This record gives sequence, structure tokens and C-alpha cells, in this order.
Amino acid sequence: MQYKIINAISFASVPLRGNKKQYLAIHYLGVVGQSRELASDGTGAHYYIYWDGTIYQRCSHDAIVWAVGTAGYYTQKHPYARNANTISIELCCKCDGDSTSADDQKWYFTEETQEACVWLVKKLRKELGISAENVLRHYDIVNKVCPAPYVHNNKYRTSWTWSEFKRRISDASDSGETKQDAGSSKTDGASNSSQKMRYVVQCGAFAEKKNAEAMARQLQEKGFTAIVKTA
Ligand SMILES: [Zn+2]
Repeated sequence: MQYKIINAISFASVPLRGNKKQYLAIHYLGVVGQSRELASDGTGAHYYIYWDGTIYQRCSHDAIVWAVGTAGYYTQKHPYARNANTISIELCCKCDGDSTSADDQKWYFTEETQEACVWLVKKLRKELGISAENVLRHYDIVNKVCPAPYVHNNKYRTSWTWSEFKRRISDASDSGETKQDAGSSKTDGASNSSQKMRYVVQCGAFAEKKNAEAMARQLQEKGFTAIVKTA
């Protein structure tokens, strides 16, 4: 299946610019219907995928839109992912139950929407250098039930589970991607297992952030990929 992105880019309603593009967030529209619009207050996403797999790009990657924040209501879960460093993809969805409730178990995505999303995520991962680990559900960033089908994970109708989605976007087969950053965590070969073991190379733990940053700089100067994380 050959996909293409329909250009629906507009500056209208884009609240801020300067997106750092380090994470990809997957959402569901939250209503039964199809839309590719940013609300007038800037709430929305960069991409929208319709039921038949048509992909619309609503704003440039540089845009910061209101998509994954707490809105003063949700609790932040992810330590780093924010509106300012995340590209959002909104999947149009259907519901056989009560569509006024995210908790309803009968929300679902069509195969076409999910397949198109996998294609788009792989393309963006390659273009923007985003690891599979940084492909998140909105739910992984704050405690919102979004996207409902991948939070309930009940495979209702044509919905996949989140781990099935992650398996597909992690598969490098048709993205031409073979390189993996030295020093980044690697998943083992058993990619169809839902529980993935990660092996992390650590070379120091420090009480003061500036000492950790100095060590990271030394490693970076030697050509290693080094990141500072709290533990
Ligand atoms: Zn969302």
C-alpha cells in the first residue's frame, strides 16, 4: 500500500513555533467522526488520519500545538515529553458504545487508519531521528485515556493492542533503517514478545547534575551517545 500525505498545512490557530521534535504521540479523536482541524485555541495535532487511511498534515513540524499537556487537569507521567518537543498524530476512530465516555470499551480504529499510522510513524522516525522508544501514547505522557483503543488494549473489532502497534513501528524492514545509536538501549531479538528486556550501559551516577553533565560531555567528545537521566 502506497500512502501519501495530503498537505493541509495552515498557520491558522498555531499557538507557538519552535518544536524540538523528539517524541511522537498517538491520539484518538475522542469523538466518532473525521476531522483535520486545529481548534481556534490551538488544541489539536500535526497529523490526522481518516478511517480509510488518508493522512492529512495540518501544521508544520515546527509548530507547537496543545496536544499532550496537562491542561491544568491531567497528571504529568512522562519526565521529558511535552507539547514543545512532541509531534502529535490524531487517529479518527469509531465507537459502538457510549462515545461520550473514553472509558467505553467499544472504541476502535480501522485497519486502514492503523496501517497508515504505522507508515507515517516509520517515515517520521527516519526523517526526524526518533527512536521507537520515543513513540508514545498520549496516555504515556499524561494520565488521559487517549488513544482509548490502545489504553483499553482489548482488541475490540479491528483494533490492535499497543504492543502490536509498537512492534510494527519498530520493524525496520521497509524504512531502510539499520543504524542504531551506540549507547542507546537495545531491545532484544524477541520482538514479538510483549515484554521486552532492555539492556542499559551505565557509566556513572552522580549526586550533582553538573558532574553528570561533565561526564556526558567527556563521552560525547569521545564519540559516544550519552544522555543524563534521573533515576
Ligand atoms: Zn490525546
